[in-house]
Amino acid sequence: MIVEKLLLHVLIVLAPVLSYSLLFENRKIGKSPYFLGLLYGASASLCMYFAYYDAGLYWDLRYVPVVLSIFYGGPISGIITITALMITRTAMGGETLFLAYISAVVACAVPYIIYKYFWKSAPKKRIYLSIIIGSWPAFVQLIILLSYLTFINKDFIQLDQDLFIYMTVFGLIQMVTFVFTAILNESVIERNLMKDEIRRSEKQHTLGELAASIAHEVRNPLTVVKGFLQLMAGEDERHKHYYPLILSELGRAENIISDYLNFAKPEFKKIETFPLPLLVMELSILLNPYALKEGISLTHSIESDAVITTDRNQLKQALINILKNAVEATPKEGRVSIKLMEDGDHVKIIIRDTGKGMTKEQLSRVGSLFFSTKEQGMGLGTMVSTRIIESMGGRVDYTSKVGKGTKVSVTLPLNMMLDELQV
Ligand code: ADP
Ligand code: MG
Repeated sequence: MIVEKLLLHVLIVLAPVLSYSLLFENRKIGKSPYFLGLLYGASASLCMYFAYYDAGLYWDLRYVPVVLSIFYGGPISGIITITALMITRTAMGGETLFLAYISAVVACAVPYIIYKYFWKSAPKKRIYLSIIIGSWPAFVQLIILLSYLTFINKDFIQLDQDLFIYMTVFGLIQMVTFVFTAILNESVIERNLMKDEIRRSEKQHTLGELAASIAHEVRNPLTVVKGFLQLMAGEDERHKHYYPLILSELGRAENIISDYLNFAKPEFKKIETFPLPLLVMELSILLNPYALKEGISLTHSIESDAVITTDRNQLKQALINILKNAVEATPKEGRVSIKLMEDGDHVKIIIRDTGKGMTKEQLSRVGSLFFSTKEQGMGLGTMVSTRIIESMGGRVDYTSKVGKGTKVSVTLPLNMMLDELQV
């Protein structure tokens, strides 16, 4: 039966993906286009060798490995597979050999043409493309066969019901095979990407620890220098106008270092119980002059009288970072608002702005280390805020629309257990 034969082909077609993903994944050879070309070539030849012969035609899935080889192995791999296919087909001979040559060339041209586009597409789209482009060779074969029947040899085969059933079964099995093999290939790619990501983040972690220890060592001498400079500033008349600048720059360096240390490991020094409305008002008063200077109105609304137990200064720092970003993103005449509200056993501090907003890509990166779109930006603020809030058992969520503005929701548990704080 044609179905049994074609199911055997499914297995043959799956063999290359399975073998390079299971056996050769961590070896260089598993990524070599020559090796992949040979694997797919062997698979295509086997399909042809075990073809089901009926109604005057060979029924096999030989073009599945060919298309997969071009797409997932690359152009070189594709050429090797096609060559292997041609050699086997020539060895098999037969009346319609020249038809096989023509259909192979026409069938392979399309995957080659869209190869670049294929790799620019998202993984899901790549699976659809494999299925669509995978149907192309079968279509070419059909056209060539019909032309042959019409123009050259009318009695070559009978166009009857059997043939129609064969074509349907063949089309369906080929499509399902493409779905499976493409998904398998995509999962191999995803797994490799994930492995790389893990390796990278491990490296970043080590680097982060190293940087934290250096930052810690640098902070102490810096504090000493700052102290002495402050003393000297009172006495040294000659250079007195330099001192404010030197001190402010030193202060900046100190801030960067504390930000960084905070990112590496938020420290909760003083845990206190305080009403959140008070903190929100304090923030509003603290940042109002800054907002006014930028021509922005800063408002707050308080819909909860929640009392919370945590490190007040750290929470304040986290919210200041978020508020500063909001003000920095907002043009003149814009608005920034802080809203405090309760949501079940959580309390929410929502900071909205009518600023420039963020694209999807920026939104996915906000909160990651060193991500900044500002000329003088360090890309530490959001990271530090997120770390602090998360250490308090809370969450920070960003939603944003380009040109419309950004909403940052800080959610904190109301009954914060002291031992929940990772002090
Ligand atoms: P920095 O402020 O030094 O750039 P942050 O970590 O504070 O670093 O912010 C990272 C980036 O996130 C900013 O450069 C900005 O592109 C984006 N961002 C953060 N908050 C907002 C906001 N409210 N509106 C628009 N973009 C924002
Ligand atoms: Mg910032």
